[in-house]
Amino acid sequence: MPIFFQKHIFIAFIFLSTFGGYSQKNIFSLIPKKDTTNIYEEMLNDPTDDLMENHPADDIYNNIWTRERLNPYKIPIDSLPDSVLIDCSNFVVPIHQSTITSSFGPRRYRYHYGTDLRLNVGDSVRAAFSGKVRIIDYEARGYGNYIVLRHNNGLETVYGHLSAVLVMHNQTVKAGELIALGGNTGHSTGPHLHFETRYIGNAINAEKIINFSTGLVWDKSFLITKKNTFYYQREAKPLQIAKYYTVRKHDKLGLIAARNGTSVNALCRINRIKPKAKLKPGMRLRIR
Ligand SMILES: [Zn+2]
Repeated sequence: MPIFFQKHIFIAFIFLSTFGGYSQKNIFSLIPKKDTTNIYEEMLNDPTDDLMENHPADDIYNNIWTRERLNPYKIPIDSLPDSVLIDCSNFVVPIHQSTITSSFGPRRYRYHYGTDLRLNVGDSVRAAFSGKVRIIDYEARGYGNYIVLRHNNGLETVYGHLSAVLVMHNQTVKAGELIALGGNTGHSTGPHLHFETRYIGNAINAEKIINFSTGLVWDKSFLITKKNTFYYQREAKPLQIAKYYTVRKHDKLGLIAARNGTSVNALCRINRIKPKAKLKPGMRLRIR
């Protein structure tokens, strides 16, 4: 037999002996899911992410610098140090003289990880601290046009619903530098800036750092502690595991329940509806 065929039979043998005993579903569960270990590979394949360059707070972020995701780090709170002191001395408020329209905290279907600040479309949006542009992206059902900056002090900040982006990826910015114009893009019900502060991917309530009514930081430094800063994760968790289903034409409660491994009674209880309730296409039902 030619070597060519022998090789293929050998590969087929390896494949069958490895996966032969598994159903299709199990084979897919063996394929590693996208996680932080694959981030390095992504970075190597992304010509725009310059690995040789230095990025702000590289040591804290384990040299992960990717434009792919807002939180590629996936560092659980438990693995963070008990406390970290963040230098906030060079802060400049992103929107001049604004008011909060929605605070950090739980929302109906999900957790709101930012602070919403009122603005008029076209208002200047400024970098909160000095740093570098990590992400410029667009999310139709979420942030709209948004920017993520990594700062020298170890924080990252997010600016969402922008009408225009005035910086480039990997650009170095100074605190107070004009980076964008405010807007109403993405999932937004009126012009505002969705502003987030994060530490290694974990959101921090920006109102704990910034006094938005004066436009100044409460203190020149901010102490992140596992206990006080990430208190909210306990209430955010159940919202994250909640699952929803959008009703389609001709859907029936029994079918939806069967398809999603639940019962009509459970669906009625969780959605506060009657078993005979009329389902309208587009209606959102909570599955769990
Ligand atoms: Zn928001």
